[in-house]
Parts: sequence; C-alpha cells; structure tokens
Amino acid sequence: MSAEEFVKRARSLSRAYRVTAGKKFRLADYDPADTGTLGSGDKPQAKKALRAGVKAMAQLQEMLYAQDRWSVLLVFQAMDAAGKDSAIKHVMSGVNPQGCQVFSFKAPSKEELDHDYLWRCLKRLPERGRIGIFNRSYYEEVLVVRVHPAILDGQELPPVLVTDRIWTERFEDIRNVERYLTRNGVVIRKFFLHVSKEEQQGRFLDRIDRPEKNWKFSAADIAERAHWDDYMRAYEEMIRHTATKEAPWYVVPADKKWFTRMVVASAIVDALGSLDLHFPTVDKAGRKELAKLRKELEAE
Ligand code: ATP
Ligand code: MG
Repeated sequence: MSAEEFVKRARSLSRAYRVTAGKKFRLADYDPADTGTLGSGDKPQAKKALRAGVKAMAQLQEMLYAQDRWSVLLVFQAMDAAGKDSAIKHVMSGVNPQGCQVFSFKAPSKEELDHDYLWRCLKRLPERGRIGIFNRSYYEEVLVVRVHPAILDGQELPPVLVTDRIWTERFEDIRNVERYLTRNGVVIRKFFLHVSKEEQQGRFLDRIDRPEKNWKFSAADIAERAHWDDYMRAYEEMIRHTATKEAPWYVVPADKKWFTRMVVASAIVDALGSLDLHFPTVDKAGRKELAKLRKELEAE
C-alpha cells in the first residue's frame, strides 16, 4: 500500500472503532481480539500498511508544521501492558521530532495537587503546528481516581465540592474544555487501547519471565488488575460521557499489537487528512521580492 492509498483508506480502516456519541456505547460490544477483516495471515500486509501510514503521517505533519495553524492532541488511555508505549513508538516513528511532543502523566506531585486537575495537562498542550501526545491524561481523574476513592480524598478539594455528582461534573467539564480547545484549533483524538484481561496476564508473565522486560513490571500493576471490573465500568462511563463529534474516542482492539498500531495510525492520518493541509504559498508581491533577492544573491 502506498502512502497516498493509506490516506484514502484511513477513514474506513479506523471508523469501526470510532465513538462520537456515547449514549448507546457499551464496552461489551467491542472485542479486544478483533482484527477487522484481517486474519493472522495478513500480518505482513498489515505491517506494510503501517509503514505506508507512517509515511503518510510524516508528510501530513510537515504541512501541519509549515502551516502553523492547527495543533493535534492525541490522548492515550489504557490498562497496564495494553501497548500504549509501543503504539506511540511505532506510530510516531516517522514524524519529525521537532513537530512532536510526548508527555506522560503519572500520580500527581504535591505541587500539582495544589492546583485544579487540568492544570498540569493544559500546560503541556501542543503548540500550533505540532502533534502532542498525552500518555495518560486528565482522564485518569475519572478512572484511577474513581476506582480508588482514597485518591479523591487526598486531592485537597473543599469538602462541600465532593458530592456524588462529582463524576458527572468532571465529565461535563472535560467535554467543555475539549470543545473550547477544538474551537481554538486543537484537533483532539482519544484512544482507549482495549486489551483483554487474559492478554494482560500473558504480557505480565512475559515481563516477569524475560529479564530484559523486568523493568516494565511492577507489583502495583497486579494490584490494579484486581480492580479490572471496576476499571472497565469506569472506562465505559468515561466514553459514554466524553465521546463527542469534535473529540471522538477510538476503542482500539489491543490484543493484537499489529492491528492496534494500524488502527491508531489510520485514525491519526484520517484526522490530519481532514484538515486540508498544504504548504503555505507566497503571493505575487512575495514572489517578486524573492526574485529580487535571488538576483542580489547571484550577483555577489
Ligand atoms: P504506564 O503505567 O503508563 O506505562 P509507568 O508504569 O512508567 O507508566 P507509573 O509509575 O505506573 O508509570 O505511573 C502511572 C500511574 O500513575 C498509573 O497507575 C496511573 O493510574 C497513575 N496516575 C496517573 N494520573 C493520576 C492521577 N491524576 N491521580 C492518581 N494517579 C494517577
Ligand atoms: Mg505503570
């Protein structure tokens, strides 16, 4: 597949996983092991397509940068070992590092807790012309914080503001902020890498068995795994309330990494492709000026 072909097919490749209206969303309708119309025999073909996708992305990103009007925010959320890091690595492998910024959000620091929860993320938004990646994000505020009420207790909020409406309020605020950003030229795409509990178990075992992967494993990951069902409920609620037309969620099957990467690449290429990007052109007066400068340069 060529880069041009990939751009053409990007929409149909990723559309099945895109959620723009959450009301009817049910996580159970999405199979983590889904590989679309492809079977495991198509893996080499999918890898080739990914290369085309990466090339297409690089070309589009150059124009995004040159045009310096839009910025693109890609949000990644997932359970541990779902493949966030490797999806980011593979999908962004072809883009110019100057036009791309990646930030990871871990448990907040004391300084961060002294602010509203969006503060640390808003500081990291991509500038115009750039692609920004959030490896975890403010969505943790309706995921890990919801699954572990003790974290909410530690957030130093005025107690009267912590009511049973807090999640609905956070969803509303997030929707509003994302709409605000969209209206300012930030194109938002959100990815939930949907891995199954069985596949996560296999990947954890692999991380324990292979010395070079030990560093990726922590006992805390096992503790979170014990809350699997609570997390799935929290993810479903999150998508139901924050999937919008302007900032869609992609529920990406994550049991097969080669497929995950292809869907993510397609969604990004689709987003960039819809922006009508082009290299800025010079008007007549500008061209005249250039011709004059050329002559001077030549005459040196
Ligand atoms: P990852 O788990 O994303 O691959 P990592 O293992 O290098 O990265 P960790 O030290 O595990 O990093 O940090 C991520 C952890 O931080 C996750 O368990 C996540 O739930 C937690 N976290 C992120 N944001 C928040 C938040 N706002 N409040 C509490 N915990 C958070
Ligand atoms: Mg971790």
